[in-house]
Amino acid sequence: MVVDTALLVDTHAHLDDRAFAADREAVIARAVAAGVSRILTVGVDLPSSRAAVALAEKHPAVYAAVGLHPHDARKWNEATVRELRGLAQHPRVVAIGETGLDFYRNLSPREAQIAAFRAQLALAGEVGLPVIIHDREAHGEVMAILRQWVERVRSPGPAVPPPARGVLHAFSGDLALAEAASNLGFCIALGGPLTFAHARRTVEVARQLPLDRLLLETDCPYLTPEPFRGRRNEPAYVRYVAERLAQIRAQPVEVVAKASTQNALALFPRLPSVSANGS
Ligand SMILES: [Zn+2]
Repeated sequence: MVVDTALLVDTHAHLDDRAFAADREAVIARAVAAGVSRILTVGVDLPSSRAAVALAEKHPAVYAAVGLHPHDARKWNEATVRELRGLAQHPRVVAIGETGLDFYRNLSPREAQIAAFRAQLALAGEVGLPVIIHDREAHGEVMAILRQWVERVRSPGPAVPPPARGVLHAFSGDLALAEAASNLGFCIALGGPLTFAHARRTVEVARQLPLDRLLLETDCPYLTPEPFRGRRNEPAYVRYVAERLAQIRAQPVEVVAKASTQNALALFPRLPSVSANGS
């Protein structure tokens, strides 16, 4: 497989995960060697948000997002928001997240998830950063909260299309949901599940949604794409997602890679347009 892009962005990785404890440096080096010139490592609680920032300081290709995952929403308090606000000032922190709702596993009470989600949206607005959103079995609630947020941000301004202000990561909804989110100004990130055999609904999203709304991600160490499904995922594998997206859209992989990278740069203004290794 030859993908000469030197352009890909993995917009969602968990490099601080203990799955990478033994070979984190090698994993990052492999990604860069594979043309993944920027990796967003995403915090899920305060320790992992701190770890994400530390990794971003250490590696030219790594950038951070800081937030509290819905699984841990019960931990949200004033100290959480204070520390996230501080971390968000760091120039290599490019987004707030991941935040959102997970009504599938319900590891935190739903009311706590909603409160932490709303608070992180407010924080993102305050610090002027986009949000990375996790939505599992909570499509209606997530969209309702995002709609309210967008209206609050926009009002009482003129009825202009809102700029992109976030991404629905590991998107699991249908085309109607993707279009509704896109109309609100959100991007859709596709990862490993796009390569799975029974991904009919996600394939339709990948085929029909305008290319300027799509991002690529791994969500590593989870959601490993084919042909490595079942093993540990890593940022270098984002190219398999790019190849599958190109195949579905019947476009050259270079076109898909370039567009998805442009989309990431537009959504995350703190991501530099030229990576540290010059590509
Ligand atoms: Zn994640």
